[in-house]
Amino acid sequence: MKILVLPGDGIGPEITAEAVRVLEVLCADGVKMEFEEGLLGGCAVDGTGKPYPEATSRLARDADAILLGAVGGPQWDTLPREQRPERGLLGIRAELGVFANLRPAILYPELANASSLKPEVVSGLDILIVRELTGDIYFGQPRGIEERETQWGRQKVGWNTMIYAEEEIRRIGKVAFEAARKRGKRLCSVDKMNVLECTQLWRDTITAMAPQYPDVELSHMLVDNAAMQLVRAPKQFDVVVTGNMFGDILSDEASMLTGSIGMLPSASLDANNKGLYEPSHGSAPDIAGQGVANPLATILSAAMLLRYSGNNEAAALRVENAVKRVLAQGYRTGDIYEPGTNRVGTREMGDAVIAALKA
Ligand code: NAD
Repeated sequence: MKILVLPGDGIGPEITAEAVRVLEVLCADGVKMEFEEGLLGGCAVDGTGKPYPEATSRLARDADAILLGAVGGPQWDTLPREQRPERGLLGIRAELGVFANLRPAILYPELANASSLKPEVVSGLDILIVRELTGDIYFGQPRGIEERETQWGRQKVGWNTMIYAEEEIRRIGKVAFEAARKRGKRLCSVDKMNVLECTQLWRDTITAMAPQYPDVELSHMLVDNAAMQLVRAPKQFDVVVTGNMFGDILSDEASMLTGSIGMLPSASLDANNKGLYEPSHGSAPDIAGQGVANPLATILSAAMLLRYSGNNEAAALRVENAVKRVLAQGYRTGDIYEPGTNRVGTREMGDAVIAALKA
């Protein structure tokens, strides 16, 4: 596998270094991976004047998978929009056509106190949200703000278009059914079919796919109920699939159930399982360069890379089990620290995962 590493800005270089060290242990054990490194975000603006330079785009097109740290920081916030680091991120996502965003929300029993919900409600939580990433009301045309005659007189109106084609729903549905098959075999599709025609089509299309996956139990839920159920009884969910806007909101809600942003990986995949893997958090400029950031979200993103782009479930599980072991051993970075546990920095956490991998 050719892996492009894009460390990015802030804590990005520190956390991706640990994830690469973890992957290198697997290379030594026979998993074939080659690494290249490129510039994305603020560091790319500083180096080349562009947040997503052509050289990085070439490397990204050529790679089988991309491991990304995070981009952004206050020093680039006043640049013109096209030079902002976030443009680099949107640019690479758009160019690679990664339409399926997979965000697991896992609460390790050792971290149950980090959640704002009662430990018994969230302990052992393991949900995967599959969010469609390149369609829906975020991209639908027409859209705009213009002056019109309205019942309140002439004034500005704003509008967007919620739109999905059947094929767009089918391709995200396939990713979700297949992910459910590899996990607890339950899939909940979330829509708002009682009000929105677009999501009636969503429900009909997902329902029509179910006979191809007889081993997966399909259910449907309205998005308002899903938002409620996620905080009432989140452990009822295994895999959740939904459109771009509902997924944006529900995946943030689900991830916060775990209470620890430094623990949450993500994957964005295209139709061939080429993927962009990154932690769900940002570049944390407030702690950058101090060696205290939690590298586990990035290490868990590397595990997702092995699972989805590498099709190597055994290697993915090895990394995930190593992370579970270091948590059970009491290693904690500052963001997940509790009295009585062993507070460590970024490098020591990487060392602990590597030791657990080799054990
Ligand atoms: P953030 O996620 O970077 O940080 C929020 C808080 O969480 C901070 O206190 C930070 O120290 C802490 N935190 C985040 N990751 C951590 C880790 N691994 N270990 C320990 N603590 C961690 O969000 P923000 O402060 O809103 O944004 C900072 C910058 O990151 C901005 O420039 C923003 O645009 C960018 N950003 C980038 C991405 C991305 O690259 N995908 C996502 C979100 C934000």
